[in-house]
Amino acid sequence: MSAGLFFSQQAGPTRNCLILDNARIFGGVAKRNEFVVDGHRLFAPQASVHFQPPYPNSFLEGVYDAMGLDWNAFKSYQKWQGPSPEISLPRSAYGHGTIDGKPATGFFFGAKYGHKPGIWITDPWGKKLEGTPFSETTRREMLALHGEQAVRAPLVYDYPGDAVSRQLDSMTLEDYLIRTYRASRETIRLLVAGESSGGFGLGPDALSGFLYYEWSKVIPTVDDSMATGIQMFPGGNSGMIRLLVKTLIPESLEGPRTMEAVWKNPVNFSALDRTGQRVRLRLDSTAVRVEHLGEPDKSEFVSVTYTNGGRLFRVKAKTVVMAGGGWMTKNVVRDLDGTRHKSYEQFNYSPYMTANVAVRNWRFLYNLGISSAEWFEGFGRYVNVRKSATFGVDSPTIGPDLPTVLTFFVDFAKPGLPARTQGQLGRAELLSTSFADYERQIRQQMTDMFAASGFDAKRDIAGIVLNRFGHAFINPQPGFFFGLDGQPAARDALRNGPFGRIAFSHSDLAGAMDHRNAFLESKRAVSQLLDQVLT
Ligand SMILES: Cc1cc2nc3c(=O)[nH]c(=O)nc-3n(C[C@H](O)[C@H](O)[C@H](O)COP(=O)(O)OP(=O)(O)OC[C@H]3O[C@@H](n4cnc5c(N)ncnc54)[C@H](O)[C@@H]3O)c2cc1C
Repeated sequence: MSAGLFFSQQAGPTRNCLILDNARIFGGVAKRNEFVVDGHRLFAPQASVHFQPPYPNSFLEGVYDAMGLDWNAFKSYQKWQGPSPEISLPRSAYGHGTIDGKPATGFFFGAKYGHKPGIWITDPWGKKLEGTPFSETTRREMLALHGEQAVRAPLVYDYPGDAVSRQLDSMTLEDYLIRTYRASRETIRLLVAGESSGGFGLGPDALSGFLYYEWSKVIPTVDDSMATGIQMFPGGNSGMIRLLVKTLIPESLEGPRTMEAVWKNPVNFSALDRTGQRVRLRLDSTAVRVEHLGEPDKSEFVSVTYTNGGRLFRVKAKTVVMAGGGWMTKNVVRDLDGTRHKSYEQFNYSPYMTANVAVRNWRFLYNLGISSAEWFEGFGRYVNVRKSATFGVDSPTIGPDLPTVLTFFVDFAKPGLPARTQGQLGRAELLSTSFADYERQIRQQMTDMFAASGFDAKRDIAGIVLNRFGHAFINPQPGFFFGLDGQPAARDALRNGPFGRIAFSHSDLAGAMDHRNAFLESKRAVSQLLDQVLT
């Protein structure tokens, strides 16, 4: 979608752009779920959650400004309601609340740790893990990994591509963490795997050591902290996509281009793909065959065949940005040369599932003195209650007796196996498990954890939506960023120039799935076509 924005900004008034998207609604992984519970309209992200304020006058600020993102809208989040003492809630589906200045979060230990019924340790980090069933050594290592003791990272790079960053990229993140924190592999797999799987689908055993720094250094933002920086549309980054679509096609969403109208108003599907528009968005259209008409470096056009409503259609394009992800691009670009095809073959992906569970109240959490929970067995690993920006919801307040959506993030990591195998096994599991099985697992997990504090699955769960992504995250293995043994990185062949009239985008090429990387990769791809092809 951002490739469409950059093209429409840069290509001049005579060039048109057709965006094909195979889904019935735009957004990719930045889509939203909606529930109506006891009269309240609630939103939750299908995947992509939050974003950070950019530096003034930065590339990122320019993109947000162009799509009409109004920062003032994030000055007002829901206020606490009710007689119970307030838990100050986070603004994101990650992060925890605080009560009386202390973290309102807890660890649960059940049958796996010999506790039936299970036990809760609230504010576990504040208690230095006292009372948890972990051994003394594991606790010490966990505290170190959690940043409770300052460490001096042994390798700090100056700029991406220097000798130190290459050294980092030559080892696994797990080995680097062992070296940095003097923690055992087992403890890292217990603790960090859950954290890194939120951004990569896998634990650090299969990922490049360069990722220790990837997000913080490559795309600087003013404030990355959960407490003061991070912002979230009520249903995640689908808010940005709606703004983008509204900007590209003004009649696509009813009403003005304000945050509230764009978030709340229905999509006008008939406006997306009208003859004569400079930018047209064709949904439910899967590109199945993309190839140059003739030799890639001599051809005048690219032929794009796509399916829509069970029929095949073909369009001729002067240039194409393939922005759908390498697992698809390598199969759909039929005349792709051997080098680029081999490059994409080195990309590994992991599956992921986001289960949004709408509950009529969250008093069962509140009764424990918490608004977020973490556990080490069974379905999922973590869940929290968040407050929403008020422009996007109908209730300006939140409290333990009001409905909310709990978002469970579920990874399929199989630590110790090669990244590709982990992805394949996980995908098979994700796609072969029925909704009924997952529903049972969710109800069981919540009953095990919360029945003693008042949860009743039948009464309290109002709805469940499972969002299954077969290729949710790129898993950059050692060598992904800078190559190994003097060889270039595989992604260089795809990023350093277009292939004939086709350029490659998607956040997978950045090695870290993030909407900022999606923008950067699209900017590069569009610029390559404008500078080198459409001259
Ligand atoms: C669980 C989860 C949580 C995340 N949380 C965050 C977060 O908090 N903040 C953040 O910045 N990022 C987050 N991300 C990542 C981030 O949202 C993505 O990296 C980014 O949105 C990806 O954008 P993209 O355009 O590169 O790809 P995608 O979103 O994958 O978009 C690709 C599009 O191409 C379409 N497509 C694919 N193949 C075809 C075809 N053959 N024909 C036509 N169309 C096709 C798809 O339907 C899709 O619309 C998260 C991701 C996940 C999975």
